[in-house]
Amino acid sequence: MKNSDKRVLAAVATEPLVTQIQEFPVPELSANEGLLKVEMVGVCGTDVANYKHISDPRILGHHVVGHIEKIGAEAAKRWGVQEGDRVAMEEYLPCGQCDRCREGLYRACSFTDSRRGGLRYGNTSMHLKPGLWGGFSQYMYLHPNAVVHRLPKDVPAAEAVFTLPLANGFEWMCLEAKVGVGKTVVVQGPGQQGLACVLAAKAAGADKVIMVGRQTSIRRLQLSMQLGADAIVNTTTENLVDRIAEMTDGKMADVVVDVTSGGAEPVTQAFAIAKNRGLVILAAYKYAKIPEWDSDLVLSKSLTIKGLRGHSYRSVEMAIQCIASGKFPVSLLQSHRYGLQDVDLALRTADGKGEPNPLLVAVNPWQ
Ligand SMILES: [Zn+2]
Ligand SMILES: [Zn+2]
Repeated sequence: MKNSDKRVLAAVATEPLVTQIQEFPVPELSANEGLLKVEMVGVCGTDVANYKHISDPRILGHHVVGHIEKIGAEAAKRWGVQEGDRVAMEEYLPCGQCDRCREGLYRACSFTDSRRGGLRYGNTSMHLKPGLWGGFSQYMYLHPNAVVHRLPKDVPAAEAVFTLPLANGFEWMCLEAKVGVGKTVVVQGPGQQGLACVLAAKAAGADKVIMVGRQTSIRRLQLSMQLGADAIVNTTTENLVDRIAEMTDGKMADVVVDVTSGGAEPVTQAFAIAKNRGLVILAAYKYAKIPEWDSDLVLSKSLTIKGLRGHSYRSVEMAIQCIASGKFPVSLLQSHRYGLQDVDLALRTADGKGEPNPLLVAVNPWQ
């Protein structure tokens, strides 16, 4: 690719629920920067939320895998990659210098907090040069602070775009909850994130992983069994507390993770189904207060509550290894694939308002 004769096509979210294909010049790169040829991008719930509330135009999409198209000498040295290498990207663009970055918690670095104007892939204004800050594009700019992971050549792209959700699963289940042999884990919410928790908990050796959802998610509940869940609870027809008691001989769950998107009820139920000294992980925003919850239950059961978001370098590596191992049928998650022209449909489908039965919706910008 020569700078002079190529333009980059990207789907730009210009206003709420609208994207347009626009052309960008190929950026000039310094020794610290690079350019990624995007292979495939997974659509995330965060993309859908940003699509609905867009202010400044931007290129969405942050579950990105691709090949290094161009790279400056210093960036190549720091990232340990060269042109042609295949990589999975994290969305964060942390400063690398603050306390949080130094402690490895770079996902909490203010430099990459997009709610406060920080830089982040899939959520940075296109008016900030060079504009190519998202995955719904043929090429994505590699900022000097980008977090790059090498990706084996033989992993199918449609599975590799599950890296970041699965990394959250490993972060929460393995690194935070220390799930392992003998543990019972209950996952509430059979979306991408919940299924990732099932995979990670099973990969970590959990004895019993129980997936919980409603009748409207029955296909995903059934899919969770194919991905390794030991049991499912359909809360439309079954009493969750009774069923968990039954399945655990009254001991209840060591770890409960709530990744349901709407409603406070799963949160109060999580406290009810956690065992004595159990751990409750809250990992999905509710955008609402919880009117009635019994804080005394937290004391009487000596529960631990953790609010968790995102992944670390280590959990992303764990996710890549898990997918590359081929031990789990990750390909079952693929549901829809679109080209750049159909990014609107991809986002609507991921939101449950486009084509039916979305799970892992992906965009191939070269399709
Ligand atoms: Zn995401
Ligand atoms: Zn920082």
